[in-house]
Amino acid sequence: MSRKIEKLPPEVVKKIAAGEVIERPASIVKELIENSLDAGAKKVSIEIKNGGLDLIRVSDDGSGINKTDLLLTTELHATSKLTDISDLESINSFGFRGEALASIAAAATVEIISAVGDELAYKLTEGGGIENASRGIGTTIEVKDLFRNIPARKKFLKSLKTEEGYIRNVIKQFAISFPEVSFNYTADDKAIYNFFSDSMLNRISQLFNIANVDLLPLEFNSELINIQGYIGHPKIALTRAHQYIYINDRIIKSPLIISASKKAFSKNLPPDLNPLLFLKFTITGKEIDINIHPRKEEVKFSSEGEIYKLVLHALNQELTTILNNQFKERFTNSQDNVTKIVNSSLPPQDYSPVLAFADRSVKTNNYANSKSTMIQKSLQFSKNLIDINPTFSLSPEIEDHNYLQIFKTYIVLAKDNKLLIIDQHAADERVNYEKWLAKLINGKIESTPLLISHTVSLPLGLRVDSELLKGFQKFGFELEEFGEIDGIWSLKIIAVPIMAIKLNISQIVSNIFSDLYTEKIDLSNLESSLNLICATIACHISIRAGQSLNTVQITKLIIDLWNTKDPYNCPHGRPIIWELEKANLAKNFMRTK
Ligand code: ADP
Ligand code: MG
Repeated sequence: MSRKIEKLPPEVVKKIAAGEVIERPASIVKELIENSLDAGAKKVSIEIKNGGLDLIRVSDDGSGINKTDLLLTTELHATSKLTDISDLESINSFGFRGEALASIAAAATVEIISAVGDELAYKLTEGGGIENASRGIGTTIEVKDLFRNIPARKKFLKSLKTEEGYIRNVIKQFAISFPEVSFNYTADDKAIYNFFSDSMLNRISQLFNIANVDLLPLEFNSELINIQGYIGHPKIALTRAHQYIYINDRIIKSPLIISASKKAFSKNLPPDLNPLLFLKFTITGKEIDINIHPRKEEVKFSSEGEIYKLVLHALNQELTTILNNQFKERFTNSQDNVTKIVNSSLPPQDYSPVLAFADRSVKTNNYANSKSTMIQKSLQFSKNLIDINPTFSLSPEIEDHNYLQIFKTYIVLAKDNKLLIIDQHAADERVNYEKWLAKLINGKIESTPLLISHTVSLPLGLRVDSELLKGFQKFGFELEEFGEIDGIWSLKIIAVPIMAIKLNISQIVSNIFSDLYTEKIDLSNLESSLNLICATIACHISIRAGQSLNTVQITKLIIDLWNTKDPYNCPHGRPIIWELEKANLAKNFMRTK
């Protein structure tokens, strides 16, 4: 049965379009704030009632709308922001489609009061009429009874509390990227935010209650992208997860940027934690398409690979520099701080991730020259730390037989008013990692030839050049290219480090190569892989979970762990120690209040 094709009545078209732009009250708040910012507002006030369903009112001190334009504001595709279609590439305002107010007006009762300069103020009424009104320069848009005529939309909404939460998130997003603008937000007559014009740093720290020192500034400029903003010190990622990414002032969901940042932090954060990001990207209009999403929340890059690499590089480079500097300031330059640390019985809380960064080899253009200084630096760091921090020699409070191995996986012990639960594998991994790294740095890995040589196959398509193989000699491995079958190259292992002689050598070598391969690092640059190789070796030679340990083994492990630079994190960024305060135990047993 066929039906006649009919054009939808304009009212229905409007409602469908409205549904795309106006998904929920928070979408309206977003559109209205964007309009205020487009109008150059320095002060934006938002008031809502009942999750925004009863009332959303946004007032600004922007440029205002004149009497004739006021009549056009709620017309579909009426905009003052785009005149020429070629403008689409160089849009520098949030709006340009002239859709928002028309859609909002189709879904709710809308009144707009606006004044331009010292002229009279006018009000556009719900009926479409113009009345005299009074207010200073700027615009107030009032949206009432949302979705009263679209019950289907209303059904999809969550609880009023949740909808209010979404609105709050939208305001947060703008508050971060427009710190110079004052924002005032009231929900159901309760004052929620009152932000005055400020720096981005202060705005973020105020919004999320993060100490300024834990927000690390990031500035990166290149031909393709500029990045400006803050990243959270790795230690605060344990308790929070905030990621705000802006491209040309628009908040964007970008899996690409998120994954590049995750990669950059991978040595310092376990895989289930995410770095805190407050980053503003400036990318030329030609590189991005923001028109792929009805609410402009996603973008498409024309050169994705390039952008990924740049973001990774920017974060790696900036993070390393910043954290190294911070570290130096904290531990070497300031005598005050050093004294404080020596006097304190606890390791400085934020010390471990810093060290992990200090260790990290970075790829730079003149890497060959910087490599040895880098290594010297990290050695120097560790030496300083051991010298100045008494907690890194074994505390007399750790007595023999005071440990307990549980589940054949963890070691439990009491130390300095804390109950420590230690992951035995992660702990041994840290110990071995540092042992290998130190030996490597000092050139002390002794090698021994294998009586019967082994061969290993590389991952499909991977071939390593002789330079890289030569580099492996530093690790005590003597490797030789052996041959190729169906695109799979194999290597012959001729000699191995003495300390690894009892281990499954082929397995280790093959793992190193497949790790190098999947981590997609530059194989021609062995130095950049140094940490990774040590971490891989450490992982394979370390005590496993499920292995019973006797007292002697446990004691040795604990002593070795306490002598590492970073007893708290394994080389892959996972935690080694979980601490419970004695005071907390007391609290839980109701010994104290
Ligand atoms: P767009 O922002 O895409 O142009 P909108 O429907 O959001 O479309 O707004 C339509 C027009 O109304 C804008 O182009 C602008 O001229 C005007 N306008 C809306 N809100 C404001 C405001 N707060 N201050 C000044 N002008 C505004
Ligand atoms: Mg708009």
